[in-house]
Amino acid sequence: MAGRPDTPGLIDKYGRVATDLRVSLTDRCNLRCQYCMPAEGLDWLPSADILTDEELLRVLRIAVRDLGITDIRLTGGEPLLRRGLEDLVAEITALRPRPRVAMTTNGIGLAKRAARLAAAGLDRINVSLDTIDRQTFVEITRRDRLHHVLEGLRAAQEAGLRPVKVNAVLLRGVNDHQACSLLRFCLEHGYHLRFIEQMPLDAQHQWNRAEMITADEILAILRTEFTLEPSPAERGSAPAERWLVDGGPGEVGVIASVTKPFCQACNRTRLTADGSLRSCLFSTDETDLRTILRSGGSDEDVANAWRATMWAKGPGHEINSAGFAQPLRPMSAIGG
Ligand code: SAM
Ligand code: SF4
Repeated sequence: MAGRPDTPGLIDKYGRVATDLRVSLTDRCNLRCQYCMPAEGLDWLPSADILTDEELLRVLRIAVRDLGITDIRLTGGEPLLRRGLEDLVAEITALRPRPRVAMTTNGIGLAKRAARLAAAGLDRINVSLDTIDRQTFVEITRRDRLHHVLEGLRAAQEAGLRPVKVNAVLLRGVNDHQACSLLRFCLEHGYHLRFIEQMPLDAQHQWNRAEMITADEILAILRTEFTLEPSPAERGSAPAERWLVDGGPGEVGVIASVTKPFCQACNRTRLTADGSLRSCLFSTDETDLRTILRSGGSDEDVANAWRATMWAKGPGHEINSAGFAQPLRPMSAIGG
């Protein structure tokens, strides 16, 4: 690692330090969101390739103890499909120094599990919801499960996982005209809504620059019914630009991953369900930690492989340049 300072943390050549780890717990999912997966699903990873709870906990212990990871977000695929999730959360929150633990989920099945997840120590939750119209939900996700997501949201809030955040992706001609009703619904329920620009991470490679709804368009749509002014809150390395709605205190966030990349402030590192490290959602290379784990590698071997992966991190994604190549794995397999 030529030129790398002798520091334990996950520093890269551009001076960024990764402290936020996104962990994919499974690549499987019970929805088929158009912008993520084809209707028939994908070839799921073989179970034998998925890190066991024991392997995963070992990696996470190294991450918080030796590498300075302070925040862990559980995602997928659909993390609620991981067997024994509540126990896993309890073991992760028992690590020291205790990481903050969050989860991104589609909310299906959350109604029954939110209280146990909160009791296990889960700190925060993001639920993905692109519309509150049942027909449009079916069109986007190819499943008639809107009511389950709404019950899940309510249960998360009742379990004290506050503020519940809602992630939404807008698709032209599908749910873009419903952005205001979704915001109104979230404001009424005290959910913090964030719109995310659609990124080229779908398995079908159907993303089209000309079709995507940009952050500027999202703001223009919202301004047809609300007044928006920049929120005084510190942004830090958070990707969302936040806006006060109708003078506050309600807010909305917009994540302009494509049109206004925030790569220079990125503090993330990623672990796939089958134990590969990535320095970026858009990385075209990965480091195979699973082989190190299963061939008797030491904790220091794991830590050094991780340091090297992050030292090799590029300055940013290249979505806006002509030579951009979409990563081989789709979002659901990387962990969104
Ligand atoms: N299944 C969980 C869920 O949907 O919340 C977690 C995994 S999902 C890949 C994580 C987030 O990525 C979701 O909020 C989803 O809307 C978002 N997402 C998926 N594909 C995307 C794309 N092509 N562009 C932008 N966001 C995307
Ligand atoms: Fe599943 Fe999440 Fe992808 Fe939708 S966005 S198909 S819920 S992994």
